[in-house]
Amino acid sequence: MRPPYLLLDIDGVLIPFPDEHGSTPATHTRHDVVPAGRSADNPVTVWLDPDHGRQLLDVFRTGLFTPVWCTSWRQDAATLIGPLLGLPDLPYVDLPRLQLTTSHPDGYLWKRDHIDAWLGDALTVWIDDDFSSLDFAWAAERTARGAATLLIEPDPYVGLQPRHLTEATSWGYRMAAADAA
Ligand SMILES: [Mg+2]
Repeated sequence: MRPPYLLLDIDGVLIPFPDEHGSTPATHTRHDVVPAGRSADNPVTVWLDPDHGRQLLDVFRTGLFTPVWCTSWRQDAATLIGPLLGLPDLPYVDLPRLQLTTSHPDGYLWKRDHIDAWLGDALTVWIDDDFSSLDFAWAAERTARGAATLLIEPDPYVGLQPRHLTEATSWGYRMAAADAA
């Protein structure tokens, strides 16, 4: 078995949404980054938890997954965000640039149609803060036909927690054990 993918979102997962007072968790530190196509005098401020880098590296070192960025940051995830967390150069899904007014234009996450085709029959864990009930139904349907799919949905105002990664690795070990049986 090829290792399952570990699809990683950034906004609402590694970069929590500010609360009503504009504050972010005290665990996070500020960085100003310049995404591709933006001028250097117009940076974007992001807040990142250095512990996330360490926690994700621990997950990557298990060898259970093929980690891939799955975020509207696209290539900037690999070139800007990953290095700030001390992460290796990861591949990214080149998501389409849709004209969207909602993240659920058809009732489910806008990334999903592209991801569905991109995955083929591959197993995956997908961490994103913005799934709908239709996405969970999609995951159940994939799992039922042998393409095990685990969706993990952090609270976007809190972001990724250690228990989310524990859930992912526990699932990964079960998949690896089932494959070896
Ligand atoms: Mg998000």
